[in-house]
Amino acid sequence: MATIFSGIKPTGVVTLGNYLGAMKQFVDLQDDNNAYYCIVDLHSITVQLDRVELMNNTRKLAALYLASGLDPEKATIFVQSEVKAHAQLGWMLTCIAGMGELGRMTQYKDKSQGSENVGAGLFVYPTLMASDILLYNTELVPVGDDQKQHIELTRDLAERFNKRYYETFTMPEPLIQKEGARIMSLTNPVKKMSKSDTNAKGYISMLDEPNVIRKKIKSAVTDSSGVISFDRENKPGISNLLEIYSLSTGTPIDDLVKQYENSNYGTFKQDVAEAVVALLEPIQARYHELIDSPELDEILDAGRAKAEAVANKNLAKIEKAMGLSRKR
Ligand code: ATP
Ligand code: MG
Repeated sequence: MATIFSGIKPTGVVTLGNYLGAMKQFVDLQDDNNAYYCIVDLHSITVQLDRVELMNNTRKLAALYLASGLDPEKATIFVQSEVKAHAQLGWMLTCIAGMGELGRMTQYKDKSQGSENVGAGLFVYPTLMASDILLYNTELVPVGDDQKQHIELTRDLAERFNKRYYETFTMPEPLIQKEGARIMSLTNPVKKMSKSDTNAKGYISMLDEPNVIRKKIKSAVTDSSGVISFDRENKPGISNLLEIYSLSTGTPIDDLVKQYENSNYGTFKQDVAEAVVALLEPIQARYHELIDSPELDEILDAGRAKAEAVANKNLAKIEKAMGLSRKR
């Protein structure tokens, strides 16, 4: 049994990439582990977001967590800003992080590119993420491939703290799947699918209507060779659709390649779309039952209480290790 922590930002509506890369694993891991799944709203405010939209997204993400199969009896499901220790430890870790190492983070470089007024929160984002993870003595962090670098930084910060003060933190390891770790954008398949993409055609939201999903997959960028084969480098669009299809149905990619040997892109895309619709339809049905239910708030209240008890206890030890205490 391991302690697991992971989170998703309520910046927009969760995408198929978030689901296949992260959320699907959350469900598998909740049975035999001590799992914490967080809605990381403090990370969302690193970009400017309408307040009502953020509130709605937070609820939506919680409902989607549950609709996807997360069980509050098995895992602790909560909202980051409700457990104040995250921000407190985030500041403490910011103070031991260097400008150089934060500036090397590719997510920061990507997200700040082209922006004239880059928020300081975007720059220190990884120290808050390190706080989320280290606060619970986390051993495993199920994430998509893009978060690997942030987890390495988390480990560096933990090691630095442990050496400088006391052996306080457990060393977390990333848990990244072989397939699905980087689902690509439908409009630009060399870029990862992102929920904050300004072009909604690039991603499939978990709440997209079936016909919207069909349209987006139909217009997904491919290539002109007409051959359905898996080759990420030369055929990123088709490879991405093969991966989505495979993960949505549980059919190995090789089998799909054989099955579509004599097919054209049109037929293939239609089948990919139906597989995604079949995957998301039952999740969407449960989501609609949950979104306005009082049950959702009860679950998040209970999750906050459980997370807070652990977080506050650990924070007190970490503060003492750093000298933030009147008593020795
Ligand atoms: P944003 O663009 O706002 O950063 P995002 O889609 O990257 O949105 P996050 O909340 O940053 O979503 O990430 C939540 C989880 O989903 C992380 O574990 C991340 O690695 C994973 N993830 C994000 N995008 C993908 C993707 N395209 N494929 C697989 N996993 C992904
Ligand atoms: Mg992201």
